[in-house]
Amino acid sequence: MRATAATADTESPEPQTTPRRQATRRVTKQRHNGTMTIATPERYAEMLDAARRGGYAYPAINVTSTQTLNAALQGFAEAESDGIIQVSVGGSAYFSGQSVNDRVVGSLAFAAFAHEVAARYPGITVALHTDHCAKQYLDEWVRPLLAHEAEQVSRGEEPTFQSHMWDGSTVPLKENLDIAEELLEKSVKAHTVLEIEIGAVGGEEDGHSAEINEKLYSTPADGVRVAERLGLGERGRYMAAFTFGNVHGAYKPGVVQLRPKLLRDIQTEVWNAAHDGRLAGSANALRNAPEGKPFPLVFHGGSGSTPAEIAEAVSYGVVKMNIDTDTQYAFSRAIAGHMFRNYDAVLKIDGEVGNKKMYDPRSWGREAETAMAARVVEACQQLGSAGRALK
Ligand SMILES: [Zn+2]
Repeated sequence: MRATAATADTESPEPQTTPRRQATRRVTKQRHNGTMTIATPERYAEMLDAARRGGYAYPAINVTSTQTLNAALQGFAEAESDGIIQVSVGGSAYFSGQSVNDRVVGSLAFAAFAHEVAARYPGITVALHTDHCAKQYLDEWVRPLLAHEAEQVSRGEEPTFQSHMWDGSTVPLKENLDIAEELLEKSVKAHTVLEIEIGAVGGEEDGHSAEINEKLYSTPADGVRVAERLGLGERGRYMAAFTFGNVHGAYKPGVVQLRPKLLRDIQTEVWNAAHDGRLAGSANALRNAPEGKPFPLVFHGGSGSTPAEIAEAVSYGVVKMNIDTDTQYAFSRAIAGHMFRNYDAVLKIDGEVGNKKMYDPRSWGREAETAMAARVVEACQQLGSAGRALK
């Protein structure tokens, strides 16, 4: 393929264009032909609506580097799936460089890189998201990003990210919803979608850990309180992660007692409340929602869940499922394989010089990215988004 293109260039009667000018021209073209892979707010809304109506969910893949970001894009493209790529509170700081350690800088750098490379995957649409933002990080992370995006929108530009998560699972529900209300207003101005979390997710992620106990189960009454405070779309678009026994991290099957039916019970109770007058102001917002599923839901901590549990949760209105632990493992597993297989090439042993080809970060990097991309494809197939990229 490459050889053919080079030949064509040489045979062209046109004067040779410098690579730099070609690059500039390409960028200009992409910025204006409407084929950018990063979702506009309208496109993201379309994606979320399509998943809600179609009964499937998007994998939301956590990335911490350009390698894992490229792997996620590769996986979505291979699966012909739209999707969500996200950075965590620690991942965004890491993105900025260990010695810089700035969440906003790292988030913007991630997004800038993503906007540039994602444009080369015209067949899919990808939304950028910031994952769990607990209360102590709001002022140094999500609030500045929302302010930045509100400014972009006021200048007639698209926002850098398409959604942000407020994680109020460590504060009482009232405070959680007070902050959610403030952030929902800001999200409307930023043309972004808010994700909230109700109840506590157990386990460990990004250095934060929570107990595994009864608090892991939110209730239908919690659902009604959320809708009372935030509406059901009429005051701004949001997604809700109601905990149903989810834990972060790696657990053997059986350790986690997931109760996906809780999601169904919450959806049913809130749907009824919207139609029996308890949430009268919200009934109109549900006219395009699928029957009995007022909330677009998010599934956290799905590692270790069975395919049947995942399918059941999706059937109750999950549109986004976070995937971190399993793709981390796929990436690192491939590197471990490379290092063990090529032990005497990646190390300089007994006065030898090793093999540059084997310790070049691209050699293990390509293997790791390909393995992670395959895990992303598996997630797309499991969640039903594979082959359904919006045209
Ligand atoms: Zn999570």
